[in-house]
Amino acid sequence: MLTRLRHTLLTRPLMRLVGRTLPSIGDTERIALEAGTTWFEAELFRGAPDFTRLLDFSVKPLTAAERAFLDGPVNTLCAMLDDWQIARDQDLPPAVWDYIKAHKFLGMIIPVDYGGLGFSAAAHAAVVTKIASKSVAAAVTVMVPNSLGPGELLLRYGTPAQQQHYLPRLADGRDIPCFGLTEPEAGSDAASGQSFGVVMQGTFGGKKVLGVRLTFAKRYITLAPVATVVGLAFQLRDPDNVLGKGVAPGITLALLPRDTPGLKIGDRHDPMGVGFMNGPLSGEGVFIPLDYLIGGAAYAGQGWRMLMEALAAGRGISLPSLSVGAAQLAVRASSAYTVVRKQFGLPIGKFEGIRERLARLTAHTYTMTATQRLTAGAVDDGAHPSVLSAIAKAYLTEGMRLALNDAMDIFAGAAIIQGPRNIFARPYASIPIGITVEGANILTRSLIVFGQGAIRCHPYVQDEVRALQARDAAAFERAFMGHVGYLFRTFIRATTLAWTGGRGAKRPARTPFARHYRALNRLSAAFALLADAGLITLGGSLKRKEYLSGRYADALAHLMMASATLKHAHDAGNPAHHVATVNWTLTLSAHTIEQALLGILANLPNRLVATVLRVVLFPFGARFAPPTDAQHDAVVNDVLAPDGALRDDLSALIFHPAADVPGLGALDHAYQLTLHAAPLMARLPKGMTADEGLSHRLLTAEDHATLCAADEARRAIIQVDVRPARKRAPAPNTD
Ligand SMILES: Cc1cc2nc3c(=O)[nH]c(=O)nc-3n(C[C@H](O)[C@H](O)[C@H](O)COP(=O)(O)OP(=O)(O)OC[C@H]3O[C@@H](n4cnc5c(N)ncnc54)[C@H](O)[C@@H]3O)c2cc1C
Repeated sequence: MLTRLRHTLLTRPLMRLVGRTLPSIGDTERIALEAGTTWFEAELFRGAPDFTRLLDFSVKPLTAAERAFLDGPVNTLCAMLDDWQIARDQDLPPAVWDYIKAHKFLGMIIPVDYGGLGFSAAAHAAVVTKIASKSVAAAVTVMVPNSLGPGELLLRYGTPAQQQHYLPRLADGRDIPCFGLTEPEAGSDAASGQSFGVVMQGTFGGKKVLGVRLTFAKRYITLAPVATVVGLAFQLRDPDNVLGKGVAPGITLALLPRDTPGLKIGDRHDPMGVGFMNGPLSGEGVFIPLDYLIGGAAYAGQGWRMLMEALAAGRGISLPSLSVGAAQLAVRASSAYTVVRKQFGLPIGKFEGIRERLARLTAHTYTMTATQRLTAGAVDDGAHPSVLSAIAKAYLTEGMRLALNDAMDIFAGAAIIQGPRNIFARPYASIPIGITVEGANILTRSLIVFGQGAIRCHPYVQDEVRALQARDAAAFERAFMGHVGYLFRTFIRATTLAWTGGRGAKRPARTPFARHYRALNRLSAAFALLADAGLITLGGSLKRKEYLSGRYADALAHLMMASATLKHAHDAGNPAHHVATVNWTLTLSAHTIEQALLGILANLPNRLVATVLRVVLFPFGARFAPPTDAQHDAVVNDVLAPDGALRDDLSALIFHPAADVPGLGALDHAYQLTLHAAPLMARLPKGMTADEGLSHRLLTAEDHATLCAADEARRAIIQVDVRPARKRAPAPNTD
């Protein structure tokens, strides 16, 4: 009786009030939200991360078979790849295609029982990273069948007959898959596709069967020109409700063999000159039987959920790995180039302008490597972390852009002139591809990372929304009271940590990075309070405030990547040669997070709340400066240290070509020779040549040979490619 009275007088009016402010969740959004799980990013979101638990988490190591595959077939494949030629031919050579299929590169995620390799996420990531460091075109070719596409969808939802038929064929490359979701009118808003299918009787293989008549036009579809089996998303209509799912069951997925009558396939797009297969698909009135639907008729209308579930983990593996491959390549090559390339009589690595870039590139690559490893580790731990995956996708592909920009600037002309010697022109051209596909980055940052994060990671908002939608007063009361308590605790924690500079927060014992743990604890608590302030004061309209949600996303993403960096260093045993780089990256992370939070406070429409929170959370103003010049120097000294320990760690995942291979192989060779030559050069007075050193007996013949070899290698690697002049038609004789 009392409860009913309370519900009527208090809870229901409160529900009406809160219902007006909380974000409303549409069907497509609800499905996306339900698709994944949360991981450590949820603890950061809630302002009380347990770093000790993160450090104790064990990232699954590669198995012996996975390691053998990386050291064997992956190295062989990389050695076969001539990316310059691939770009010119706009295709992989037939021998490479054959090798990829024969060694089951297209079936890494398909279980061994179906003839695939059954690799972990970590192994899948490692393979893509290594191939990407040699050829992005080859990496994309290998990556796509192992990412969101027919293989993953069949594994999750295929009927036994579909799995038995297709999975072994996909594993060994007898079938090449593609998946068509994007359309001219449906890019980022992928659920709004206009392709449709109508359930009806038709003739198939000479028999009358129940099926679907499809009309579709897809574009940008990777591998479509060579695909033998085409995954397709379309809106299903069932005017007679034959399937019992209503007249419009919704988005549905099907698999069409290439020879399906009416399927138009084979034309190509040219994605930035990067030589992988990509093209449109279309068909009008294409009739398919019901058993072409993935999962059969039972899964009709479930397509959006199926895609979102598959994307929740996959997005965190493939493109982030490709990006790490490019960044590690950039560190390995740029560090060598700054030593070998001289201007004004000095190696360019002595110039502070260059050192600033090299420090940034090194530190970014460390963080990217750490984030990729932890994300794959989370997936191998059984998580489907949709927010973490979105962070990895958006911020690591952006990291690839930052890394390659720095590498391009360090190499200058040598990165611009195209040819086999050029290491960066082709990866550089591929930057926008990673940024655009699997959720374009602006959308991912603005809508997904915080938009989904706020609902997924918040301990009470999802329950409140559910209770409101179900009009369940008791459930709402529970969630609401929980929320009030959480808000109170967060306020106390955030305030205490802000006023004490993070002292008192739980942090791991015996670490060289205590101040960074303090900073992250403090900033995480501030983020949690600000996230609630945004949700409470803006409610549903917060998701349209992308200026704000982008800043929230930056803060959450950098909290996550900074945590991954500390975890990475911890798992490596916090070695001395990592310390400067970790300090650099954590310094920048704290600065970036603080700037994002201050940006939110400066722009939160409710100025009263913003003013109070600014005093509470930043009582002494901004406290986190960007890395200092001394920090740049410390990182560069480590990455250029003659023992190569940091340089090797930060390029451990990439392919190392032989010394006679133009590009990285020759550059690395020249670098090693230069290092050997350095102590000998130091013996000579300034300006003295090796020949003079020999004649003055300052060098032995062997020393002299070492110096000459280094100089020859140096002169060879600073050359760029030259094309022979085209024969011009002789000028007309005007006499
Ligand atoms: C090389 C390549 C390979 C591809 N492979 C495949 C494939 O195999 N299969 C497949 O189905 N698709 C594929 N795609 C398509 C890819 O997924 C889409 O390009 C992507 O979803 C973006 O769509 P769009 O290009 O039409 O951009 P648009 O949707 O037109 O977006 C334009 C810009 O607006 C931004 N934007 C859009 N909505 C919002 C919002 N609400 N808030 C903030 N910003 C927003 C986007 O981030 C983007 O920056 C591929 C694309 C390329 C280029």
